[in-house]
Amino acid sequence: MIINKKIIIIGGGPAGVASSILLSRNKLPVLLIEKYKIGGLIRFANLIENYPGMPDGINGEQFTFLLDKHLKNINTDIVYDNISSVTYKNRFSLQGVTNTYSCEFLIVATGSKPRKIKSNYSNFISYDFSKFINKRDEHIAIIGGGDIAFDFALTLSLNNRVNILIRNIPCCNDVLLERAKNNKNIFIYENFSICNIIKNNESYEIVSHEQNRIIANSIFGAIGRENNLPKLLFDKKQKELKDKFFIIGDAINNSNNRYIICAESQGFDAAIKITKQIKSGG
Ligand SMILES: Cc1cc2nc3c(=O)[nH]c(=O)nc-3n(C[C@H](O)[C@H](O)[C@H](O)COP(=O)(O)OP(=O)(O)OC[C@H]3O[C@@H](n4cnc5c(N)ncnc54)[C@H](O)[C@@H]3O)c2cc1C
Repeated sequence: MIINKKIIIIGGGPAGVASSILLSRNKLPVLLIEKYKIGGLIRFANLIENYPGMPDGINGEQFTFLLDKHLKNINTDIVYDNISSVTYKNRFSLQGVTNTYSCEFLIVATGSKPRKIKSNYSNFISYDFSKFINKRDEHIAIIGGGDIAFDFALTLSLNNRVNILIRNIPCCNDVLLERAKNNKNIFIYENFSICNIIKNNESYEIVSHEQNRIIANSIFGAIGRENNLPKLLFDKKQKELKDKFFIIGDAINNSNNRYIICAESQGFDAAIKITKQIKSGG
């Protein structure tokens, strides 16, 4: 089936939700396509403390609940599908798993994907937050020393023992570092450069180049993230696409500006430009 809509947004994280809110309030026909759940990556945040207007901070799960509620309150049209590719010929054509979609204006807000460790032990490392979130009484190793590694360690430490393995030294926010250092369930190993991981029945033995060893039931990789995009099979720079096509949020940002507020502001900006274009007869 082909679903036609004037405006389509791919991705229901903070960026896509922000665009949806503004476009819906401007009474424009918009469809949001999300492959998993509304809210995006921020669902896994331990405590969001840098969001203006939330002086006591807010947990990631609660924040995504509010994003979802906001969309429901304004009756946003949402379809759950995974878009693999986009082509353009007068209109955008989006290929999903269940449907094909067609639109005049397109916002791509598909977030980021994990940077993966390439080695002969890479099969033992998982990058899927949702597989870890319900773990209890495990020894979990997190590889990486940035904000995401430390923030997720704090979440997992409520029910598990967490070992953070860092190749050099931590490069996360000072507040997160201090909290992790004061947490009795978190152990930080600096200068732990992994040379091998050995699987033994239900556990893994992680061996450093200095032959130090850490035993873990599961291993989470958090060595950075990259832009995540469906295949965009057209010339993105063609003049015709000005104010018709946008990539916003973590799908285009780098590690310096991967924040909710940046993603949301780009979401608003795209929505403002599309509104102007449509209202001026474009
Ligand atoms: C553990 C953790 C803690 C964090 N803490 C903070 C914090 O405290 N403060 C802060 O400002 N930021 C924080 N961040 C960063 C923040 O989560 C991101 O910057 C923000 O979520 C980016 O929003 P986005 O909408 O661009 O992308 P995302 O949130 O990644 O949303 C993208 C959405 O697109 C969907 N999608 C992807 N591909 C497709 C497709 N092909 N078809 C359909 N749908 C698709 C995804 O399922 C997802 O819902 C944290 C991140 C993590 C991982």
